[in-house]
Amino acid sequence: MNQETNILTDTFNRKHSYLRISLTERCNLRCTYCMPAEGTILSPKQHIMTADEIYNIAKIFVDNGVTKIRLTGGEPLIRKDFTTILEKLATLPVEIGVTTNAIIVDRFISTFKRLNISLINVSLDTLDATKFEEITRRNYFEKVYNNILKLVEENFVVKLNAVLIKGFNDNEICDFIELSKTNKIAIRFIEFMPFDGNQWDIKKMVSYKEIIDVANSNYQDENVIRLNDAPNDTSKNHQIKGYKGSFAVISSVTNPFCDSCNRLRLTANGQLKNCLFSATENDILSAYRRGENIENIIQQAISGKFKVRGGMDTLDKLKEPSLHSKNRSMVNIGG
Ligand code: SAM
Repeated sequence: MNQETNILTDTFNRKHSYLRISLTERCNLRCTYCMPAEGTILSPKQHIMTADEIYNIAKIFVDNGVTKIRLTGGEPLIRKDFTTILEKLATLPVEIGVTTNAIIVDRFISTFKRLNISLINVSLDTLDATKFEEITRRNYFEKVYNNILKLVEENFVVKLNAVLIKGFNDNEICDFIELSKTNKIAIRFIEFMPFDGNQWDIKKMVSYKEIIDVANSNYQDENVIRLNDAPNDTSKNHQIKGYKGSFAVISSVTNPFCDSCNRLRLTANGQLKNCLFSATENDILSAYRRGENIENIIQQAISGKFKVRGGMDTLDKLKEPSLHSKNRSMVNIGG
């Protein structure tokens, strides 16, 4: 590691060891909270990082201290060269995870096993097939649900992300928690976050407190155990006494966890985002293609990182559309 320059440490002394790479802006779902109804403008193919570029850029991050990479999107598994990308990255000394909507994840189980990849995050916002179609605008509930259970059976470390929206799926909190009764799975409720074009309204968001209140009243406080969180965890982890799995809340809106943030994001078109909420980006890919030293750009990006949520340090600022709409929509960032 290049200790002297320490390019992955920001002005608040946060060390960035976790890189999330979006492999594509495309997705085989159309989740309403993630993607604007009218769709998004896709980058031209030649602006998207190739497998070699992903590997070479990722290696520079790893050489400077990144120890974990998560592949996301869009939907990372629909990229035709997904296996090639994974094979290349698996040669680096990093832990690799994948975030997927699980529609075609069964096709990759043997590849994941061969490459020793066990950290699979899946997204599922409802356990009701009709509601699934309503939120994703596609009809893949059975496939997704069965694939998630298959991953658990195959002993992957599975985290299930569910974005809760008031009046839509907030009545399913306990149904999701019940999945953790016999399955070794981590259910993670995500507070609905504002991004460009996703019709966010704080009134639609289900807060950390509301979720824990539901758990406490349904299972009795003494059965809801607060687990220890890992040092850079974004989730506040809990478990129902006697259950195999756990549940958690990712409270980016009501209780941001920026103090311990160790994350950076690289979009599919090679832009470095120093924060999920950041409105600014640094163009790593163009510099890389010009043969420039991209470490300077990485350092510049990291030194410009705000203390809290891309500068939206209060809830009032986060609520302000003129601020949060300067950012991309989530499908284009890579969640
Ligand atoms: N296609 C993959 C998937 O479905 O997991 C990876 C990309 S998706 C953008 C990554 C995660 O972002 C998903 O778990 C999704 O629920 C979450 N997400 C998208 N928009 C969100 C929003 N507005 N608020 C909170 N989470 C969001």
